[in-house]
Amino acid sequence: MRRETLELLRCPKCGVGGLIPEAEVAGAAMAFGPARCVSCGARFPVHDGLIDFVGDRAKLKALQQAMELPWVARSWERYVRPAVDTVLTRGRLDHESEYTVLRNLIGSPPGPIVDLGCGAGLVLRRLSRDFSQVPVIGVDMSRPMLEEAMAQVRENAEAADFVRAQVPLMPFNDATLGAVVAVGFIHFIDELDELLREVARSLKPGGRFVATTYEAGKMLEPMHRTAGLSPRSEEALRASTAKAGLVEFERVRVSPFLLWKAERATSSPG
Ligand SMILES: [Zn+2]
Repeated sequence: MRRETLELLRCPKCGVGGLIPEAEVAGAAMAFGPARCVSCGARFPVHDGLIDFVGDRAKLKALQQAMELPWVARSWERYVRPAVDTVLTRGRLDHESEYTVLRNLIGSPPGPIVDLGCGAGLVLRRLSRDFSQVPVIGVDMSRPMLEEAMAQVRENAEAADFVRAQVPLMPFNDATLGAVVAVGFIHFIDELDELLREVARSLKPGGRFVATTYEAGKMLEPMHRTAGLSPRSEEALRASTAKAGLVEFERVRVSPFLLWKAERATSSPG
């Protein structure tokens, strides 16, 4: 974990304090912890560069439990994600096109990029290559996923930092991030309004939230919800975005796929 990344983080326990290494760290990166909150003194383990805000006592939903299985993490990018995407979108958008749209929606981020729900790091690694001028940070709930992503980054001599955290809480200081990216992720979470509020708080003015998701349609939505997914219509996304105070909603629709962005206003209204 680079020092500049550690300085972006905010203690999720008290919601105010910054984090510092408990022991003196030589060089520009912190490999082992713990890191300590300067305000409430809470300590969070750092192991091999990964900071863990979740610990072992988190309550996991069934889908999250699946993500904790090492075999799911190992085969995620190669088998599981493409299969899930094909089912959800009926194969109408390939990953290459998805990434190209995503990149254009991100624009020129005015600060670090967070990949929310980074999984095994497929998109994260492309982001770190394409936006090498800013730190790229992967956030996920699943430890095996993060370990897989870290191994891939290391193997390919790329640069990225990793945070294990449970959304909707964003463990970042106010107005520090240049972009928050969530690829194929928000339909796995219920608390979109809370998450967008947190995203809006963490973004710098002009910083963007860019997400890809899908619409199930009125007929199928109840079925998807029963399966633990939260598909949302464009109207619902627009409403949540506005409620969070984000502006400049734009979307690219390759039905039923929705790629969209919103941003934090560059000047406060009024
Ligand atoms: Zn604290």
